[in-house]
Amino acid sequence: MDTKPAVYSDTINEEEEKKIILREYRALLRALRERIKKGDKTKLRNAFEMAVEAHKDMRRKSGAPYILHPLAVARIVVEEIGLGITSSICSLLHDTVEDTEITLDDIKHEFGENIAKIIDGLTKISNVVDIKGDTTKQAENFRKILLTLAEDPRVILIKLADRLHNMRTLESLNREKQLRIASETSYIYAPLAHRLGLYEIKSEMEDLAMKYTQPETYTEIARWLKETKRDRTRYINEFIKPIKDELTNAGFEFQIYGRPKSIHSIWTKMRKKHVAFEEVYDLFAIRVIIKSLPEKEKEDCWKVYSLVTKFYHPGAERLRDWISVPKGNGYEALHTTVMGPGGKWVEVQIRTERMNEIAEKGLAAHWKYKDGAPSAQENKLDSFLVHLREVLKNPETDTIDFIQDFKLDLFTEEIYIYTPKGDMRVLPKNATALDFAFDIHTVLGMRCIGAKVNYKLVPLSHVLKSGDQVEVITSSKQRPSEDWLNFVITAKAKSGIKNYFKDEKRKVAEDGKQLLKNKLDAMGVAMSPHNVNELMAFFRMHTPFDLFYGIAVGSLDLKDIREFAIQGDKLTSPFREPKPEVKHYVDDENKQKAPPKGQEVVIFGDHADKVLYKLAQCCQPIPGDDVFGFKTSDGVKIHRTDCPNAAKLLANYGHRIIRTKWAKNKEISFLSGIRLTGLDDVGVIQKITNVISGDLKMNMRSLSLDSKDGIFEGNITVFVHDREELNALCNKLGALEGIHTVERLDSPYE
Ligand code: MN
Repeated sequence: MDTKPAVYSDTINEEEEKKIILREYRALLRALRERIKKGDKTKLRNAFEMAVEAHKDMRRKSGAPYILHPLAVARIVVEEIGLGITSSICSLLHDTVEDTEITLDDIKHEFGENIAKIIDGLTKISNVVDIKGDTTKQAENFRKILLTLAEDPRVILIKLADRLHNMRTLESLNREKQLRIASETSYIYAPLAHRLGLYEIKSEMEDLAMKYTQPETYTEIARWLKETKRDRTRYINEFIKPIKDELTNAGFEFQIYGRPKSIHSIWTKMRKKHVAFEEVYDLFAIRVIIKSLPEKEKEDCWKVYSLVTKFYHPGAERLRDWISVPKGNGYEALHTTVMGPGGKWVEVQIRTERMNEIAEKGLAAHWKYKDGAPSAQENKLDSFLVHLREVLKNPETDTIDFIQDFKLDLFTEEIYIYTPKGDMRVLPKNATALDFAFDIHTVLGMRCIGAKVNYKLVPLSHVLKSGDQVEVITSSKQRPSEDWLNFVITAKAKSGIKNYFKDEKRKVAEDGKQLLKNKLDAMGVAMSPHNVNELMAFFRMHTPFDLFYGIAVGSLDLKDIREFAIQGDKLTSPFREPKPEVKHYVDDENKQKAPPKGQEVVIFGDHADKVLYKLAQCCQPIPGDDVFGFKTSDGVKIHRTDCPNAAKLLANYGHRIIRTKWAKNKEISFLSGIRLTGLDDVGVIQKITNVISGDLKMNMRSLSLDSKDGIFEGNITVFVHDREELNALCNKLGALEGIHTVERLDSPYE
């Protein structure tokens, strides 16, 4: 994981550069050594020379010669994903067709059809920062990524390596690009890496993305981890000792070690459980990796389990058996959580060497074992790809919706459901009987009226449990209903239902279009794209389709069109100027204007540069927070970079982002929310209000406390000037006797 980018500095001359490049190339050769067949070396050398020549005048933002990037990508592909010679050649050439004179034909001529096809796939997936323009293009790009995945998984594996290296070298890009690339990575690439079983790459991507989107939190957790490292190592050694002895006595060949959890996963846990760093109990996991024969794997892993639990008591509900039923991405292991010394819960993961390789290299490792033991998990990956292809088949599906639905599929836990014949299907947790019907076939889903779960009749919305046996009941008279969307959770069911209604709606929208045309004809106005756009903006509709549909069903009133000013054949809405009802004013003169086109930096409170803006309610930023501006139809919305919605906005709507910074201004206060927990005692409210209104002289808007069994939880909303002030308040409150945790709320309206 610690592959350091080649060191580069300005003082390096051309000779030294050449040496660095050759050194990287030899490292790649060494990594490939076992996999290289006769003739391969020449092909690799050719690809290397072709890439060196093509990129010879190019440099990366850091100043390093460009060729070091494809070389690094090739090494990741070999060393960290476990792919071979073909993928190495493709990695070396991955940027040539897009950025240099080399054409796809050149590559086909030199390396053959197969490699040219992969490079073509790689070229088609653009980087988000390269896409200027609209949302649909970015969403379309994500869709392409998924499509190529379904065609040849190598394309996406190389793309993941490419992205990983770009993330490792993100330092030298400007802040805006850092944010966009980091968000796109956490939004689509990390979930994909996860789905393909590339856990190492997934966590590194998440950590790196966090480093750029939430630099402060990231550094803080990294520092805590470092500070507690010595204690942790001591604890791990103490924990491991008896198990080690026992395994040796039992004649196992094994490795055992403690592994810290990623910064991102620690942070997720802190946030989800509302706990402080010190209280995240499993900062690390113990891993036992054993050598085992294919036919004895299962037996051996359970043997290890029984040895471990001989010393440490397992938590009653904390055993996960992913050996009998592997995860959908192929992951196999036994996980258990046991009570370690000092009353701490410790997670133990037990795997064989083969399982470990699959856990680290995912998909690629499956290919490697394809000829070996017949494995059920391989079929699962195949069925994942089949499923993906099916969902992607329909080009009509709204892409952003689809990505959103699909992403939910990527991350959720799985349950295993049996058909009446005993075939197993993998579904995400909380899937319903109707999801199951759609999973088997879209037609079955459309006609589904109910199901029998373990021979008992249940409604469509019934949530399934792992191990259920389900029989779908259908009727040829059944038609999908829109409220089905309220309970289905799989992408396949959602897009099936949505497509059905799209078809229905399309017929209705056609009528609406005709109605509008008649009306405009009567006004002597053309139905030009410009005018349709104006009308869309006026009625706040996102697509012409929504506009026509709204007109047809009467939710939009055509009489309102009279409000439009007609200039020649152009319509102009009188409401296009921003409305003056803004919540936060920046200046007392109340003179505000929309951001001029092309301007990137918005400064608040500075008299020279006033802009219409609103603070996003979802994260309620205050001065001092790291923020970005997001253009909306009524001005710019300011979000925190660690806002729960930030990744989605930055990844999908990059062109609407405006760089933003705060100006110093102590006159305006901002509403902020804090959540407290602690021990309930009589004086607690008094103490809190003393700090806020007394010591700090702040203006508190609300305070609510809930107390149960001697523990209280409370929310406070308070006006502050900036982040410094809020931090000071949090520290003061945290120092009070009896207060346990103090944390900022994303939104005071929570
Ligand atoms: Mn690249």
